[in-house]
Formats: sequence, C-alpha cells, structure tokens
Amino acid sequence: METIQNGIGGRKITSVSQRFSPVFNPATGEEIARLPLSQAAEVNAAVETAKKAATTWGTTPPTKRVKPMFKFKELLEKNADKIARAISAEHGKTHADALGELQRGIDVVDFACGIPHLLKGEFSRNVGPDIDSWSDHQPLGVVAGITPFNFPAMVPMWMYPVAVACGNTFILKPSERDPSAVMLAWELFQEAGFPDGVLNVVHGDKAAVDAILDHPGIAAVSFVGSTPIAQYVYARGTAAGKRVQALGGAKNHMIVMPDADMDQAVDALMGAGYGSAGERCMAISVAVPVGERTADRLVEALAPKVRALKVGPATDSDSEMGPVVTAQAKQRITQLIDSGVEEGADLVVDGRGFKLQGYENGFFLGGTLFDRVTKDMEIYKQEIFGPVLSVVRTGSYDEAAHLINSHEYGNGTAIFTRDGDAARAFADRIEVGMVGINVPIPVPVAYHSFGGWKRSLFGDHAVYGPEGVRFYTRLKTVTARWPTGIRKGAEFNFPSMK
Ligand code: NAD
Repeated sequence: METIQNGIGGRKITSVSQRFSPVFNPATGEEIARLPLSQAAEVNAAVETAKKAATTWGTTPPTKRVKPMFKFKELLEKNADKIARAISAEHGKTHADALGELQRGIDVVDFACGIPHLLKGEFSRNVGPDIDSWSDHQPLGVVAGITPFNFPAMVPMWMYPVAVACGNTFILKPSERDPSAVMLAWELFQEAGFPDGVLNVVHGDKAAVDAILDHPGIAAVSFVGSTPIAQYVYARGTAAGKRVQALGGAKNHMIVMPDADMDQAVDALMGAGYGSAGERCMAISVAVPVGERTADRLVEALAPKVRALKVGPATDSDSEMGPVVTAQAKQRITQLIDSGVEEGADLVVDGRGFKLQGYENGFFLGGTLFDRVTKDMEIYKQEIFGPVLSVVRTGSYDEAAHLINSHEYGNGTAIFTRDGDAARAFADRIEVGMVGINVPIPVPVAYHSFGGWKRSLFGDHAVYGPEGVRFYTRLKTVTARWPTGIRKGAEFNFPSMK
C-alpha cells in the first residue's frame, strides 16, 4: 500500500513518524493508502527550509515571481483529468464535480498571475518641503495553510498561489482524508519552476497543526475547516502573535418566496443540497419556503426528485452524487437523521439504509428530505455535512430573514424570488457573508473574496482575491527627504505643516 510522502524543499521526503492515518476509497470502503502523521520536528524542518527560500523569494521582482505561476496554471489544466480522478478516488465526489472544484482552484492561480498589479503602492510627492512619501505591500515571510477534506484541490489553492505571488513561502498541512490531489499539484508546482522551499507540504493531524500554530517563524495562518477547530486555531495562533484567518462551518438557508419560479428553485435545491453529497461549506441545507402553499408545492416537487437521485461511485459517469467521505461521517449523519425523526420532523425521503450492489462496503447514503423542521431540532442547529435537506416553513419574508439572522453561522444564503424589493432588502440586511439572488451557491469568483460572517469566519480577512493579498502582505510607508543639503537645526515640536 502506498505511503504518502511530505514535500519539503523541492523533494519528496518520507516522514519519520510512526503514527499513520488510513486513506479510504469511500465508494468501496477499501483502505488505499496510509498517511503519516508528521511530528513537530518535521514541521520545524519545513519552516527552516521555507525561511531560507523566503529571503530571496521575497525580494524577487513580482513579475519574475509570477512567471512560473503561468506555467503552473498550464500544467494544472493539462493534468486536470488525472487530478480530478485522484480527488474522486479519495473524496468520493463525481468526476465532473471534481473537475469543477479544480477549475475554481485554477481560477485563483489565474488571479495570482496578475498579483503584481495589486502590490503597487501609493506615492505622494511633496508631503512636506522636499519630502515624498510612499506605501507598499511587503510579504510577511513564511505563512501556513491548514485545509479540510471537502475541497482537497481548491481550498489549498485559495491560499498558496496568492501567498506565493505576494512573495511569501508556504507550509501546507492538508486534510488527512484525501492528500493525493495536493501532492499531484505540488509536483506540478515544482515542475513549473518555482524555487525549492517556496511551497512545502507536511501531512499530519493535531500535532502538526499545533506545531504550526506555535512556531515563531510562521507569520500567518489560513485555516478552513469546522467551526470548533477554526475557533481553536484562531485563539492559539493569535495568542502566538500570528495573523490568522480561520474559516469555519455553515448552515446555509435558501428562502423560496411565493412568486419564485418553482421549477428553478427545485433544481437549485437539488444541486445545492445534494451535490457532492452535501459536503460543501456552501451547500444549501435548509429550504425556507414562505407561506404554506409555497411549502406544499416545494415539498411535493422535491420529494420525487430526491427519491430519483442517482447515487453511485464516481467511476460511473451517470452518478449525480457519490458516497460520504468516511464510515464515521456516514454514522454521524445517520444518527442525526435518527434524531430528526425522534424530535418530530416529518421524514419525507429516508436515505438511511441505502445499498448499492457491488459497493456494499462503500460509505453511501441516499438523499434525505425532512419537512416541518423547527429551530430547536438538532438537524436544524447542527451542520450535518451530508445529503440531508431540511424544510423549515415560515409565514412571511420577515420570519424567514429573522430565522437566518438568528443562526450562529453566516457563511452563505440565497433567495429565490421575482420580487426586486424582497431581493434588495435581503442583500442589504441579511447577516451572512455571501448572498445569492436566484443563485443557490454564491461562491465568489477568484477576483472577489470568499468569507462568511459570525461563527463561519474568525479573523478580519476573507480568502483569495483582494482580501487574500491584504492578508498575505503588510503595509510599509516610507517618508523621504531629497535633497538632504538643507540644514534647519534640531526641531523639537511634532512635525506638522502648520
Ligand atoms: P476539520 O475541522 O475536521 O479539519 C480541518 C483541518 O483541521 C484538517 O487539516 C485537520 O487535520 C485539522 N484538525 C482536525 N482536528 C483538529 C484538532 N483537534 N486540532 C487541530 N487541527 C485539527 O474539517 P473537515 O471535516 O476536514 O472539513 C469539513 C468542515 O470544513 C465543515 O465544517 C465545512 O463547513 C468546513 N469548510 C468550511 C469552508 C469555508 O470556507 N467556510 C470551506 C470548506 C469546508
């Protein structure tokens, strides 16, 4: 069985750790690789390598820094099929979905190619007699990223292309569940011609994460994962004096107004609720129809479609939805469905006990639909992260908006309507970071930035786009006097233009 290697200083290195985590093929339940849980000393070695590389990388002219980025983009496009297959084999998502995720990652690489433009500073001539002043954005040095299982290619690419183009060197600690796509991209990154040590991958678990958070040589940490870990990473990283952006979990609601195009709303809910088996931080997990009649029509239209979902392995091109990532994830989701039944929600379609011939050991669940879910139920409060859609019926737009604003998470949300007033009020006042109007998964494009509100993001900056550039740089302002020949003697008052 393959043992996954770390990628440090341009070379693949076998970890010395004696602790391992299994990597499964979720469709078959088979263990296909083992991942070393690297020790703190290995993180430290990666930081030393990255520090050395940062000295020259940070002062390399920006246009020269992005030359290999263009090549990296080309190589990713050329190898997209292979990377997508690696994603599907370890994550379980369909091939088309994996290709989509990778493309959104490549879009960030594309954005990073133009970053020199955003590093331009500001210049003011004559801020005082013979004095000029300018500000520019300088790299931080060594920065790190810690990423989740659900987008094994895209989420790391939200981080390292931007950080590296800004002049930093990078330590990536990917998810234990699906490391192969990261390693394929790392190989292409090296092939593209980046200097050794600019991007380093260290596999591991909490021990490696803690080593990153505590290391004085790492200036900033980007984290994406579940909320409890995001909060922990933020607290520990900032206590160690680092800049931290930590993106957490979500419970994304979609309001369906009485005037919405019902066919369009139902299609949107099918894709956003069950695509990638609901394992997306921007998945819609709560449908909020306004009015009883809207709710009845919605559930009536959804139920047969959920029953007809084509659940299967990624190797079957007809599959619309794959398995969930691990046996534990399947068990947790099943228990949450049990709790929904016990707490009195109306189980319209039950995905428990789903079986697929030839894949009996796979981690499959069928699509599940609950109606008449209420705020106090666990299935409403928790992020299920599985193919489970809850319908919460509301009597008015205000009630629906209040429901969303009262939830602890504020990652994404959507409204389906033909009413411009409702759409505008929603965009203006809803307390959520990313909003869709007749768009169910409003993931911002690479030249905007991605980030939720409330307990979906700890820290001040969203990821990638202009916010990514701000996060990975620090502002320096220089005030200079030329010519130097004029001598005025010592000035003891605070300098001003009065
Ligand atoms: P996770 O929190 O379990 O793991 C994320 C990372 O944290 C992994 O690299 C993991 O090794 C590390 N980690 C896990 N436990 C740790 C601990 N105790 N101490 C230190 N580090 C630890 O998340 P996951 O299950 O891989 O991913 C799913 C979660 O990620 C969901 O909650 C989802 O909403 C969230 N997510 C959020 C976004 C976003 O942009 N807001 C995007 C993708 C995923």
